Amino acid sequence: MKNNIKSTDKKHYDYDLIIIGAGPAGMTAAIYAQRANLKTVMIEKALPGGKMTKTSEVENYPGFDFIEGQMLASKMQEQVEKLKVELIYDEVLKVEDSKNHTSKTVVLAQGRKLTAKAVIVATGTVEKKIGVPGEDEYYGKGVSYCGVCDGFLFKDKTITVVGGGYAACEESLYLTRMTNKLNLIHRREGFRADDKTVARVKKHPNINMHVNYRVLEVIGDPVLDKVVGLKIENTQTKEIKEIKTDALFPYIGSEPISEFVRHLDVTDQEGYVLVDDTCQTKIPGLFAAGDVIKKKLRQIVTATNDGAIAAQCIINYIDNIS
Ligand code: NAP
Repeated sequence: MKNNIKSTDKKHYDYDLIIIGAGPAGMTAAIYAQRANLKTVMIEKALPGGKMTKTSEVENYPGFDFIEGQMLASKMQEQVEKLKVELIYDEVLKVEDSKNHTSKTVVLAQGRKLTAKAVIVATGTVEKKIGVPGEDEYYGKGVSYCGVCDGFLFKDKTITVVGGGYAACEESLYLTRMTNKLNLIHRREGFRADDKTVARVKKHPNINMHVNYRVLEVIGDPVLDKVVGLKIENTQTKEIKEIKTDALFPYIGSEPISEFVRHLDVTDQEGYVLVDDTCQTKIPGLFAAGDVIKKKLRQIVTATNDGAIAAQCIINYIDNIS
């Protein structure tokens, strides 16, 4: 698509489009925008790939019946790099909107302020904590939120996963590669993951299920300075017991990363960004895509879908405002 914005614009913009977050939503948006000749930048505070880099196995992304999350992230990143999309490593502190909405300013932690005609928020979510004593204290000393990153540290040790969603089930299966002593603790009998995945978990010989249990405390050894067990409570009988474990991986869901736009009143009570079917918020030119938006299904494929829609709509939006 031809873009003649620069020739008609009186106001100076650093970019046509600033994409905040380089996960699957952000990278897809970047591919569409760059191919449409928009001057595009992605801002990422950690590694490109987002949650894909922390996901062991992906089995439901079309084109790959099985691919490691890290590999899928690398493939997307390669595609973005081939198109020469600019990538800035920094954290976004705030997005500001101009009075007539035609300009957005993105304030970065390292002090720069960038302007653009449109912004896509594609920052995803961050893992929730259980919020029990010992969880923070023993973070990095047995408590981890990333099996792919830290699982190998617990080879042949006892590992405990908490949660009943896709992440808890899939990462439990992944972590059985490291050990044959894995506990899965879930607070009720019903699981959120699909039946096939749950069945694989339930019949796995090395996964010891603790259904109807919740974690009350992470028990650490103050001398060894590491996790040695958990205090858990049966949610039905209220029986409390201690189990031995060397590692705790909570996979109990996520929270949106959207603090930097909350002052613009575009988020719901939980912080998810509210968008219409073009992925635009109620503020013209401010779009959002991927796990950070309020929606029913958070998957890599729905993130890429949002990214494509947002970028394509921004191409039209910029044509209209220029
Ligand atoms: P999730 O689907 O929200 O599941 C969180 C699980 O943790 C639930 O079983 C929940 O229990 C439990 N939980 C929540 N708070 C808890 C607490 N304080 N203490 C103990 N347990 C608690 O989260 P997720 O598995 O991280 O997945 C997040 C999103 O990514 C979902 O939309 C999911 O579909 C998607 N995802 C998809 C895939 C895939 O399709 N392959 C893989 C990973 C993630 P209750 O069930 O009782 O509420």
